[in-house]
Amino acid sequence: MSTPVFRFAPSPNGLLHLGHAHAAMLDHALARGIGGRFLLRIEDIDTTRCRPEFEAAILDDLAWLGLHWDEPPRRQSEHLDAYATALDRLKAMGLIYPSFLGRGEIRARVAALEASGRPWPRDPDGAPHYPGDERDLDPAARAARLDREPHVVWRLDTAKALTGVGPLSWRETGAGPVGETGRVAADPAAWGDPVLARWEVPTSYHLSVIVDDALQGVTHVVRGRDLFHATALHRLLQTLLGLPEPVFHHHRLVTDATGRKLAKSAADTALAHLRAQGFTPDDIRRAVNWQATARDLDRLNRVLRETL
Ligand code: GLU
Repeated sequence: MSTPVFRFAPSPNGLLHLGHAHAAMLDHALARGIGGRFLLRIEDIDTTRCRPEFEAAILDDLAWLGLHWDEPPRRQSEHLDAYATALDRLKAMGLIYPSFLGRGEIRARVAALEASGRPWPRDPDGAPHYPGDERDLDPAARAARLDREPHVVWRLDTAKALTGVGPLSWRETGAGPVGETGRVAADPAAWGDPVLARWEVPTSYHLSVIVDDALQGVTHVVRGRDLFHATALHRLLQTLLGLPEPVFHHHRLVTDATGRKLAKSAADTALAHLRAQGFTPDDIRRAVNWQATARDLDRLNRVLRETL
């Protein structure tokens, strides 16, 4: 049986807070609990928001919590060529198209469509599906327009991508609508035609996360419930690119007093702030009511025996 591989993948666009502490401690405990490796990945493709001082603070906070990772952290900004290769493969399959509408134009188009009484679909994060019709441009017209308007975003033609693949699902060991088989039916069409790369950042969260999970040999993706529905899209991309299917474990989110997910801007729950006030790692553990339950570990062990 090969060794399971887990990863924690924060973005250095702010300080880690109690929600990250919960996520990282759970992930680490599940990895160690089943004899797995634990990797750290710095998801820093958004160069406008990510900063080296936040990355340094992440490493420092995680070490302070007593977490250890098994390899030097992988920084996504150093692997843009790997994401470009994956995007090129999807382009060669005819599944990617450049879209020309800016955010304001999309909003206006959707508002006009809805004003005519037609309900317009929203993705699981609440954003309207892309309403453009550039997916059907013929190659010559597309090339001419790209010459004139190079500042495009590259989208997946989801309907076309789905024609070549059968029903998709994933193995879930965390929370969510898991059927008796322990698998969740994936509905990537719920995302419309998602952005996979932008002219100024030649990749996206969805594309780089699946490329890296495969390149790092990740067998177990442990992350928050807020990414539960994104997994449908990740399964589609993994299938199109022939990448292995990890097991997924989506965990509860730590919320504030009003029941909302903690934000990176909520400075009072930042670990750096709590440390400066004299709180200890044990205080943090108690605060997030953290525990990898025997049930979690038991489920993971069972899946492990079946899949590795
Ligand atoms: N970088 C993402 C975040 O900070 C996590 C991505 C993942 O675990 O798949 O929310």
